[in-house]
Amino acid sequence: MSLFYYTNTMKILIASVTLNALNSLTIIVEKLRNALPHNCVLCDNQTEHFHNHLCQICRNDLPLPQYLCLGCAIPLVHQQPFCGQCQKSPPRYKLITCAGYVAPLKQLISSLKYKENQIIARELALHLAKRVKHLIDNNQLATPQYLIPVPLHKKRLQQRGYNQAALIADALASHLNIPVLDCTTRILNTTTQTELNAAERRANLRDAFKLVDDISGNIVAIIDDVYTTGATMHELAKTLECKHQLQIQCWSIVRTNIE
Ligand SMILES: [Zn+2]
Ligand SMILES: [Zn+2]
Repeated sequence: MSLFYYTNTMKILIASVTLNALNSLTIIVEKLRNALPHNCVLCDNQTEHFHNHLCQICRNDLPLPQYLCLGCAIPLVHQQPFCGQCQKSPPRYKLITCAGYVAPLKQLISSLKYKENQIIARELALHLAKRVKHLIDNNQLATPQYLIPVPLHKKRLQQRGYNQAALIADALASHLNIPVLDCTTRILNTTTQTELNAAERRANLRDAFKLVDDISGNIVAIIDDVYTTGATMHELAKTLECKHQLQIQCWSIVRTNIE
């Protein structure tokens, strides 16, 4: 046996032993972590796995009305793509949400945004992914090539420390296997929109975003946590469309004003 052959064989053997040792160690750490408490953020019962932040009962109880209008997300009695109003004046973008701004989604979003409970993004994204998968599987929605989170202004990002829409987009990306594209930035630090009506929100957000990277696909989904009047997502869509021919979808965890 030549020295060269012997050295290479030893290298392969050591790499294989190291990999096996690392895999065994990972399994042990996972088992140990799973033996420690990991409670459901809603009912405080132990969840099935420490990666899960809701127990299976609370997950199954999250509101997910069977039929929602694909234009305005209003609940529908029968399976049909659009409500009467959206059939009369077809919306520019499809709107995909889990449900209205109802408990416990309302509390989970508030906890994600204002209590630094970043782990909630994964559960919210998982819930929205259920709706998206169902629509894609039933040919009611085209699969987007990219997910584009609504960006926060850098000052707001510094205050909060994270962008909740980006966290949701990242989690959706792993649930749906669709990449996130960070191609926009927010150049206007808009004041809080809570007290503004639809027209004021549109005016408040005019030219708030800027495209900083090219988009190679032609179908994209904009991701946000809450859809109220649509002013934010529509302004971002306008920014994306200024350079590209795109089919844009708006995805948010909930839509307000619909209960
Ligand atoms: Zn629970
Ligand atoms: Zn509608």
